Amino acid sequence: MFLYKLMSLPSSAVSRNIFFRKLHMYLSDDMPISKGFIPDICDLLEIYGLEHILSAYNDLPSKYSWKREVNTAVADREDMLWRQILARAGSFSRFRNIHQSITPAVVWRFPKDPTDLRLADCIAQLWTCVPDSELTICRLCDGLIEDTLRHIVCECSSTLPLRDAFLDDIYRTCSSEAYMELERSTPEILLQKAMGAPLIATIDSSMQTTFF
Ligand SMILES: [Zn+2]
Repeated sequence: MFLYKLMSLPSSAVSRNIFFRKLHMYLSDDMPISKGFIPDICDLLEIYGLEHILSAYNDLPSKYSWKREVNTAVADREDMLWRQILARAGSFSRFRNIHQSITPAVVWRFPKDPTDLRLADCIAQLWTCVPDSELTICRLCDGLIEDTLRHIVCECSSTLPLRDAFLDDIYRTCSSEAYMELERSTPEILLQKAMGAPLIATIDSSMQTTFF
C-alpha cells in the first residue's frame, strides 16, 4: 500500500516525481543498480504478476480494488508454492489429504487451554508421520503390524472401545449417513478423517472441532 500511496500523490509532489524518475532510469538501464527500493518494488511486482500498476499511474484503480488485487495475487502465489512443496514431498501424502489448503487448519480452532493446545500440537505432528513400512509387534495387542499409527487408531483390538465411542459421537451429533460412511471407510481413510481430514459433505466443516 506504500507504493499505492506514493503513486497516488498529486503530480506536483516531489517524492512522487523522484520515484517515477528513478523508476524510469532503472527500467531504461540508465541506473545500474540491483538493490534498493526501486529494484525491490519491481522484483516484488514481477513475482506476483502486478507490474501493470507501474504503467497505470494516470489511471490508478481505487484503493479498495488495488488492495483486493494484491491480496488475491499474494494468496494465489503462496497457495501455489505450498502445493508445489507438498507435491515434491512424497512422504507428506497423508498430510496432503488431511490438510488440503494453506488456510489455518481446523485442528487449531478448538484449543481453549494449554492442555488442548498440547493435544492439537500432538495431532498436527502426527499428520506428518511417515507410515512405517517394516513389520513390527504392537505393544498393545502383540499383533504383527505394518503402520503403527494406523494400526493403533483404526485396527488395534485394544483401542476398539475408543473407536466405537468416536463413531457413536458421529452418529449422535451428525447423521446416520455420516456414521455409515465412516464405518465403511478403509482404516487409512478413517485415520485421516479422525485426525482432521475434511469430513463427508453431510457434515459442516465447523463441526469437525466436535470430534477432536
Ligand atoms: Zn495392536
